Amino acid sequence: MMNLDILKEKLFFMPDATRGAVRYLTTKQLEETGTQALVTNTLHLLVHPGPDVIQQLGGIKKMMGWNGIVFTDSGGFQVFSLLHSKKWKGKVHENGATFKSPKEGNTYELTPESSIDIQMKIGSDVLVTLDDCRDTNLSRKEAEQSVERTLKWAVRCKDRFSKDYGGTKNTGKLLTAVVQGANFPDLRSYCARELVKIGFDGYNFGGYVVDGEGDLVVDEMSAVIESVPKDTIRYAMGVGKPEDIIRAAKMGYNLFDTVLVTRNARHGTVYTSEGILRIKNSDMGLDMRPVDSECDCECCQNYSRAYLHHMLKNGEATALTLLTIHNLTFYQKLIGGLS
Ligand SMILES: [Zn+2]
Repeated sequence: MMNLDILKEKLFFMPDATRGAVRYLTTKQLEETGTQALVTNTLHLLVHPGPDVIQQLGGIKKMMGWNGIVFTDSGGFQVFSLLHSKKWKGKVHENGATFKSPKEGNTYELTPESSIDIQMKIGSDVLVTLDDCRDTNLSRKEAEQSVERTLKWAVRCKDRFSKDYGGTKNTGKLLTAVVQGANFPDLRSYCARELVKIGFDGYNFGGYVVDGEGDLVVDEMSAVIESVPKDTIRYAMGVGKPEDIIRAAKMGYNLFDTVLVTRNARHGTVYTSEGILRIKNSDMGLDMRPVDSECDCECCQNYSRAYLHHMLKNGEATALTLLTIHNLTFYQKLIGGLS
């Protein structure tokens, strides 16, 4: 069995392998960036190919040929944001959510128990409890309701994981919980302390980590980190920009993920030791330098900004692969430097 306790000690950055793949990268390329853990999206995998298919194929790690660590989310954040924004049809209720996938038209039910079942079938190493994630700008009352429901669901998830699967002892897997409480630091702290009483392997800062101006919600994040033990996973979900990761790490968070790394790469926006660079800009057209002279990734060791600019302008997928390799390598070095 894999030793997952390292997740409670060191700092990790996880790229998003939403559907069981980090877009444009092979698993070998992913390993070469120094990535040790990734996070997959339970909702997307639930809809396609479905947890039973994944289980039949030996789990997501076998499918990917990936020897590292796999996290799953609970599927809640995605479902609730799709339902709240009315992009998907369905409803949130006391037991979770019932919804219809617009593509296949199938109806699904996500409950605390089914969320654990799905994550088990996917074959992740670290599972997450289903939480009542709501919109931004909640009233105090709505935030309190969300916290109470999140706590109830956390108990049900833990029961499912311990009683039906035998917990960590039997599975070797870890279970983490999500802290809600919107932008009320005292509610955040209350939610975190109650979850600690129930007992989990880690505590994830849920909901929105940045405010309307894009700034980290530092007060709420501090309230949570001060309420959880240091020898657990302390996951700042969706953080974020390099400067935000540095800030959250100083506060005591040790696990991060963001779609920015891979998404920016696909748009030609890259992180370097001298700041952000936009490869699509016309001044890159004759620039013979590598993306980052201090980087030893496959992209920087072999190709010029000008060549990448040319490929991006012409829609060559190879450029997307190379820039994703670079951005991810940059993030893993950043994390390595903070450890
Ligand atoms: Zn590089």
